[in-house]
Amino acid sequence: MERQVDLMEISDGKLYGLNDMVKACANNCDGCSACCHGRGDTITLDPLDVHHLKTGLQTGFEQLMTGGISLGVVNGIIRPSMMMTEEEDSKCIFLNAQGRCGIHSFRPGLCRLFPLGRVYEEDGIKYILLTGECVRENRTKVKVRKWIDMPDMDAYEKFLIEWHDFLKEIEAAVTDAKDDTFAKNLNMYVLRKFYVENFGETEEQFYLVFAQRLLEARKIIFG
Ligand code: SF4
Ligand code: SF4
Repeated sequence: MERQVDLMEISDGKLYGLNDMVKACANNCDGCSACCHGRGDTITLDPLDVHHLKTGLQTGFEQLMTGGISLGVVNGIIRPSMMMTEEEDSKCIFLNAQGRCGIHSFRPGLCRLFPLGRVYEEDGIKYILLTGECVRENRTKVKVRKWIDMPDMDAYEKFLIEWHDFLKEIEAAVTDAKDDTFAKNLNMYVLRKFYVENFGETEEQFYLVFAQRLLEARKIIFG
């Protein structure tokens, strides 16, 4: 979430920590799948999301590109996002006939969050409750940590912060690039190293390999 967005306009104005209670739980979204419709390319995926899709579906990046994810450009950076169907009422390709998420146990981070959003602060990640997003009025309170439901929250947040910072550095490098070839090569390198190449099987392996790859990428890109 960019700082220039007025948080008061899009949220209830509070910043939540992992152990805070927030009114986010809409009875398991029973009978509703509004969040999975008409999202365009806004459900962007980070490397852990793509790792989960690859391991959960036992597939590779190229196969995902044929029926799972799309590529778009956000702030000059190539970013994968969930693929949406092309019909008028476009919906996520993983929404099943019963209106439920077909990949619920390994759904992307943004789907885990909704209707919460992330704010990157000096002292770490804070969460906001987005207003005007979830159509259910009678939501109940749930602890933020439980809502996001990731096995190792500390490692997950560390990864999110590192990836967020790295993207900012890459965005700046692309903006400052004197020629299109540099920006294109940089984008292709980041896509290959952080999305196409595998990170092992488990989440633990993912975090280890990610940290090594980030170190290596910074050396190669920034010297
Ligand atoms: S991954 Fe699941 S929760 Fe996320 S948009 Fe697709 S169907 Fe909905
Ligand atoms: S709008 Fe609310 S109830 Fe409906 S799918 Fe989204 S979070 Fe669930």
